[in-house]
Amino acid sequence: MNAEQAGYQAIDRICDYHVTLRDRPVLSQVEPGYLRKALPSSAPTEGEDFQLIADDYQKYIIPGLTHWQHPSFFAYFPTSSTFEGILAELYASSTSNPGFNWSVSPACTELEAVIMDWMAQLLGLDESFYNISEVGGGVIQTSASDSVLVATVAARSRYIREHPQVAMENLVLYTTTQTHSLGKKAGLILGLKVRALGVTAQDDFALRGDTLKVALEEDTNAGFHPFILIGTVGTTSSGAVDRLDEIADVAKHYPFLWLHVDAAWAGVAFVCPEYREAYQLPAINSYVDSFCTSFYKWGLIQFDGSCLWVRHRKHLTDALDITPEFLRSKHGNAGTAIDYRNWQLGLGKRFRSLKFWFVLRARGVKGFQKYISDCIKLNTKFAQSIYESELFSVVTKPSLAMTVFRLAPKSLCQLRTPELNTLNRAFYARLAARNDIAITQTDLNGVFCIRMVIGAEQTLESDVERVLALMEYEAMALLKNQWEGIGGRRGRKTDVVPFHSH
Ligand code: PLP
Repeated sequence: MNAEQAGYQAIDRICDYHVTLRDRPVLSQVEPGYLRKALPSSAPTEGEDFQLIADDYQKYIIPGLTHWQHPSFFAYFPTSSTFEGILAELYASSTSNPGFNWSVSPACTELEAVIMDWMAQLLGLDESFYNISEVGGGVIQTSASDSVLVATVAARSRYIREHPQVAMENLVLYTTTQTHSLGKKAGLILGLKVRALGVTAQDDFALRGDTLKVALEEDTNAGFHPFILIGTVGTTSSGAVDRLDEIADVAKHYPFLWLHVDAAWAGVAFVCPEYREAYQLPAINSYVDSFCTSFYKWGLIQFDGSCLWVRHRKHLTDALDITPEFLRSKHGNAGTAIDYRNWQLGLGKRFRSLKFWFVLRARGVKGFQKYISDCIKLNTKFAQSIYESELFSVVTKPSLAMTVFRLAPKSLCQLRTPELNTLNRAFYARLAARNDIAITQTDLNGVFCIRMVIGAEQTLESDVERVLALMEYEAMALLKNQWEGIGGRRGRKTDVVPFHSH
């Protein structure tokens, strides 16, 4: 098979894959080391016919994949894969180039600068974040972790420039106990002291201004220097939203405390204006130094692609611009074009803006809004069923397309947290042993719970109904087997669903 035939075949097979997703088990059933056993121990000496290679992809790789776009994928947060994005990735890789300076491929930089302004408009971000402002600006990073690292490096460099006498070991980076591990990791990589502030169930796991105030006072009195706070809109465990308005009110007394907001998953919901107020967009627009959301999660763009906006691009370039002679260029030297290598950690970058451009044009703002609001509607239905259930209860307020709940049969209301945790671990183990649903667990201040997140484009109301029925089936089976005598009552009249394996 020649390369051209292989190309047509690949597109056909990719289409087939997406069309048949629903019929596949969502989770892979392979054991560790399966691929080493199946593949030769070294590369072939002579080149092989492409048909063999393409067939081996089907035979060996597909069975080892988790199907993140499967309609029954409710784990972690979603990761998108759209046909428009696939085509953009094809075009982008067909002219592969590292795009580090404007001059190395002007289209790559210019499209990214335009697209980041489109995305900023789509989300309702303040114009001071637009590239066209020439003061602030946006850049596509690989991931939210890179975005935090870049923001932290910029904040550190700004702080040290303003306070040259301060020793690095006295700087403090603030997160909360619910911040994604990216905060701790940034501290680890940069050798910084990290303080995780406590949040409570009563506050829906959101950071409050008073907690921050006490910590900042304690630390400054002890001779430390607060220089960055990583706030979150939509925490990983429960979709919590830090009280950025209160935080900003405290932070105004610390002019060099950089506020970064990580909205890796939830930020994309700002495409629907009705969620902007409740999810703190006005505070983001008024106060924060940098803001990140990852369209590759819940935004129809395939991995990778995390959007980072900063209020002052100068803080990025002051921290990250290192220009040896071989990287000099006419427009870079003159400052008449963006050189994105100075806005990120690495030198080169993929041509990611192409997939944003293709998807946004093909779907339009309305298409984006419909996708997000459909997911939220499905989650509202799911959450409603949990509220009405005799078996399950929500652990914290549902957030956008996410519901965190646990098995807590009304008939077992005498059970306390440790016993309920044991029950829920057993319940989750049953769900995790199935290959027809992907769902993940978490711990919220000592409460073991299950998190359900809707985001696959193919998920329908019937899939959500099915997952509810499946969970009831597993819950009842568990209660019958292991908790005989104290069993619960069924909450919904849905028949037991068959399943692939157990
Ligand atoms: N922030 C939040 C709130 C997340 O939920 C996640 C991952 O799920 C991340 C950051 C990490 O994202 P990335 O893998 O893009 O670094």
